[in-house]
Amino acid sequence: MSERINVTRSSMPSYEEYCEEIRDLWDSRWLTNMGEKHERLQRALAQYLEVETVQLLTNGHMAIELSMQALGLQGEVITTPFTFASTTHAIVRSGLTPVFCDINSEDFTLNASQIEQLITEKTCAILPVHVYGNICQVEKIEQIANRYHLKVIYDAAHAFGVRYKGCGIANWGDASCFSFHATKVFHTIEGGAVCFRREAYRTKLSQLRNFGINGEDSVDEIGTNGKMSEFCAAMGLCNLKHIKDEFEKRKIAAVRYRTNLSSISGLYLNPIQANVETNYAYFPVIIDPVLFGGDRDRILAELKENGVIGRKYFYPLTNAYACFQGKYCPEQTPVALETSRKVLTLPLYADLSLTDVDRICEIILSSRNKGVKQ
Ligand SMILES: *Cc1c(COP(=O)(O)O)cnc(C)c1O
Repeated sequence: MSERINVTRSSMPSYEEYCEEIRDLWDSRWLTNMGEKHERLQRALAQYLEVETVQLLTNGHMAIELSMQALGLQGEVITTPFTFASTTHAIVRSGLTPVFCDINSEDFTLNASQIEQLITEKTCAILPVHVYGNICQVEKIEQIANRYHLKVIYDAAHAFGVRYKGCGIANWGDASCFSFHATKVFHTIEGGAVCFRREAYRTKLSQLRNFGINGEDSVDEIGTNGKMSEFCAAMGLCNLKHIKDEFEKRKIAAVRYRTNLSSISGLYLNPIQANVETNYAYFPVIIDPVLFGGDRDRILAELKENGVIGRKYFYPLTNAYACFQGKYCPEQTPVALETSRKVLTLPLYADLSLTDVDRICEIILSSRNKGVKQ
């Protein structure tokens, strides 16, 4: 019996490497509140992501909520339902109204040509999501935002280290929000960050992540606790040293999946985007049940029986969640709805062996037409 293969597996530095990094915390006793490791990681990430500054936070969700608060948003936010719960929840929890726009069937990101028809006098921002390491139509989105004076916040949780036209992806939009959760390409156990293009918002965010405190005797914003601890920052410092290796190993597994699955009838792999250096965050497959001879859920079950855990990222759509029942209509985003019913993300992580990739592909292919009564 082979070992169970999960959809992801956290990359970690060696035990010794991490211990060495945290050793001096026992002398300094400075465990959180923007300590030395926190500052060092911010600088290292700014350099790596090719941006002026990076501001660390407790998690990626906090990055989205606090960047919206820092930007002072009010009203409607045009966004995608094809995302993780966090994106839509952040909008609603901030007292804003999500307005759902459909996605492109090729790359699963917001369909920029449908944004304008959703703009009203209440629209304040666009919140697109880079999906699986694919990037949004950043130039088109920027043009629309400029024309209508809207803010753009990217959920860049899937886009760490992605480059477009030779430039870090966080150089687009007013803000880009990253997640450094343990399951992501780069992680700090729990963690996140926001990159603001404009200086004024950075000052505001620094304050918001520390209860709105603005000097010893002054609190002039209703902030929260969004600080990253020194132990998380230390994990980030270690992981960042290995990031090149992480990407290369993921690429090898992703290329093998592509070779094995690209010419199978009924399986659709998203095209590789032009001018994009991706991070191989996820490997999605769209399954046409008729052409393939079996639907997504059957393949998922078949994989599970063989100890392989795939995921339905993203199903259900956020506009179909039970907690929003009756509020939104998933039928208004038909491409997203269909994609959510057909998508399967396969295991992908740095340690995934090619033998395992081949085995996973064999399970998928041998499930074809199985259980179909003649
Ligand atoms: C992981 C993720 C988030 C939330 O990040 P956390 O660090 O878990 O809070 C937000 N959006 C997307 C698309 C994600 O995948």
